Amino acid sequence: MNGKEIFKHMSPYKPGKQIEEVKKEFGLEKIVKLASNENPFGYSEKVKESIPNLIDHLEVYPDGYNTELRNTLAHKLGVTGEQLVFGCGSDEVVDIICRTYLESGTNTVMATPTFPQYKHNALIQGAETREVPLVDGYHNLEGMLKEVDKDTRVLWLCSPNNPTGCLVDEQGFEKIMNECPSHVLVVVDEAYYEYITTKDAPDSIKALDKYPNLVILRTFSKAYGLAGLRIGYGVSSKEISTLLNITRGPFNTTTIAQGSALIALKDEQFLQDSISRNTKNKKEFIDFCNELGLTTYDSQTNFVFVKLPSNVSGDEVFEFLLSKGYIVRSGEALGHPNGVRITIGAQSDMTVLQQLLSSYLAPLKEENKK
Ligand SMILES: *Cc1c(COP(=O)(O)O)cnc(C)c1O
Repeated sequence: MNGKEIFKHMSPYKPGKQIEEVKKEFGLEKIVKLASNENPFGYSEKVKESIPNLIDHLEVYPDGYNTELRNTLAHKLGVTGEQLVFGCGSDEVVDIICRTYLESGTNTVMATPTFPQYKHNALIQGAETREVPLVDGYHNLEGMLKEVDKDTRVLWLCSPNNPTGCLVDEQGFEKIMNECPSHVLVVVDEAYYEYITTKDAPDSIKALDKYPNLVILRTFSKAYGLAGLRIGYGVSSKEISTLLNITRGPFNTTTIAQGSALIALKDEQFLQDSISRNTKNKKEFIDFCNELGLTTYDSQTNFVFVKLPSNVSGDEVFEFLLSKGYIVRSGEALGHPNGVRITIGAQSDMTVLQQLLSSYLAPLKEENKK
């Protein structure tokens, strides 16, 4: 049985290497996974303590409206509950947006390389995808606006962008919101929002009052450390949110995910701790890269994309680190062959990673000079 025509050109998502797989392959005891931008400091102890209380009634369907989390989050963000849509990760909200707005005859505009799920889900809905290359890791906003026409339904801003870490700043955000025609939904994916340290970031939530075609995506998977529970959300005008909630499956987030996210939201201490440790370790790692003569993109996230010398491929550095028990992501799979994307880990792991990188790259650097 053939699927839709487009499936002939598509394949299932290839995730980063799994820990158990690497242990077996290389006979290693300890594996450090720095491949999927998960929180290296885990998740809130308060969540861990409360999970036993959340499993009392697993025979009952979850609250499909996610009432308690919805109300708490709405209050925290300064929006109304009707402006929210929850998903099984913000991944699912991306899919919900595509199913709501895209079909054959429409098109959607995004950067490249960027988060692959925008294109993937748009193609499944039969839409044309228009990809505009990044400039130095940043979105080419002018170029993206040029691709917009009467059939454009969705424009994606991944900010900060995965895999480069670069932010669309307030000026760029305002430019898009002001110049993009109002029939186009602008989706700002802020999966790494909590990690942003620059003052140039837009207050996207506040901008919802001004721009009825804006959708903001956030998640509990990254800074909150709950990737395994699968819960994320979209914030928009009530009108958009109503449509997205029509598309959404009735029980798409679990009782445990809803309850855990609610407690995670209240544990400010854990969040702030993760953020400040990330900021510190990231700065040290970037300094190390620069000392080694490597450049990185400006990162407002918990990962850094390292640009490699021209005689070194991302795959080869990936394979080397893998054999030592450090799983990173080769730029090859991310549309940027000459680099690696590395999640910022705990300090002790970053120290070893840096030693490994110098031992591998320093001799090659010498060779390059000859
Ligand atoms: C990790 C990530 C997501 C997906 O997060 P989930 O909520 O776990 O589905 C979305 N967008 C970007 C840019 C990401 O890096």
